[in-house]
Amino acid sequence: MSSEAASAILTIDLEAIAANYQLLQKRLGDVTECAGVVKADAYGLGADKVGPALQAAGCKTFFVAQLSEAVSLRSIVPEPDIFVLNGLMPGQETEFIHHRLFPVLNSLAQVDLWGQVARSSTTSTQHHGAALHVDTGMSRLGLPRDEWQTLAADTSRADGIDLRYLMSHLACADSPGHPTNGEQLRNFAQCQGVFPALPASLSNSSGIFLGTDFHHQMARPGIALYGGNPTPDSANPMAEVVRLKGRIAQVREIDSPMTVGYGATHRVTGPAKIATVPVGYADGYLRCLGNRAFAYAGRHRVPVVGRVSMDLITLDVTGVPSQDCQPGALVDLIGGPVPVDDVAGWADTISYEILTSLGNRYHRVYINGNA
Ligand SMILES: *Cc1c(COP(=O)(O)O)cnc(C)c1O
Repeated sequence: MSSEAASAILTIDLEAIAANYQLLQKRLGDVTECAGVVKADAYGLGADKVGPALQAAGCKTFFVAQLSEAVSLRSIVPEPDIFVLNGLMPGQETEFIHHRLFPVLNSLAQVDLWGQVARSSTTSTQHHGAALHVDTGMSRLGLPRDEWQTLAADTSRADGIDLRYLMSHLACADSPGHPTNGEQLRNFAQCQGVFPALPASLSNSSGIFLGTDFHHQMARPGIALYGGNPTPDSANPMAEVVRLKGRIAQVREIDSPMTVGYGATHRVTGPAKIATVPVGYADGYLRCLGNRAFAYAGRHRVPVVGRVSMDLITLDVTGVPSQDCQPGALVDLIGGPVPVDDVAGWADTISYEILTSLGNRYHRVYINGNA
C-alpha cells in the first residue's frame, strides 16, 4: 500500500536515531562507550531497522531484554556484542553459545551456571562473555550485596567466564535531585572497589545527563536514542524520531446538541464539526487519551473528544478551515507539534509506553534506512 492510500502513517527517522547516538557518544567523551538498548523491538520502532542504523552510527554493543530478541538481532547484526538483560535461564545455555550472545548475570546462581558451562566447554572463551549485574537500589534484577560479597570472596566461581562489565541500573535517573542517585553511585563504587578489574556501566539515557561521575566505561541509553526526553525537567536535547499522522476518514457537521462516542462522555452544545480518524487503542493510541489529548489539523490544535475507540478517535475541528480537516487530510497525532512526551503526559505515562505500544496496522515509513 502507498502512503497516499494509508489511513495512518508512522514515520521513523533512522537518521535522527543515528544523530541521537552520536550526540550521546559525544557527551560521554572518548573514554566511555555508548551502547544501544534495543529491547522490545527497539522500543517498538523495529530492531531490524534500528540495529543496523545504530551499528552504522558506531554502536558496537547492544542490549536486549530476552534471549529470543537477541537471537533475532544476531541474524541482523552478526558482529557486535549482544547482552541479554533478563539473564540466563537454565536450558538456554546452548542457544547463548551458538549465537555468541552474552547473558547479564543477575544472581549468584546464574554466575555458577554460566561458569560451569564455560569451564566444561570446548568453544573459545569469546563465547562465554557476560556482564555482572549488581543491585544498588532497584530490588529487581542483579546480585544483592550478600551475593556479590560471596562472589568476591571466591572469584573462582566465575572462572572461565569472560566478564566484560560490572553493571547496575539507576532507579531515579530522570529526577536529578533525587537522593537515590547518589546512594546508588556510592553503592556501585563499593562494588567497583571489590571488582576493580572490571569496566563499569551504570547509566541509562537519563543517567548520562547526571554528570561524568555516572559515565564510567559504558552507558546504556535506550529512550533518548528514540527521541524521548532524558531530561524531563528541561528542554529535550534529542532529535525527534517518531511521527504519527492519521488521515481523516469522515467529518460530521453537528447543529444540535449531541454526544460523541462510547459512554456519551463528550457533549457538543452548539454547532460543531467532528472529524473521525482511523487510529484507536488497538493501534497503541491509549484509551485514556480520550477527552485529554490534542492533535493538530494543519496549524490548528484540536482536542480529542469522547472516548478513544478500538479503531477510531474523534477530534473537535470546529472552526478549522476545511482544507485542513476534510476527509483525506492528515492530522498530527504524535510528533511535530505534538511531542511524544506531551502525549505521554496526557496519558499519565512515559514516552516509553507510548512508543512500545505503537501498533502494527500503521503504514511504516523509515527515513534514510540503509536496511
Ligand atoms: C531499559 C534499560 C536501559 C535503557 O533505559 P533508558 O531509560 O531507555 O535509557 C538501560 N539499562 C537497563 C538495565 C535497562 O533495563
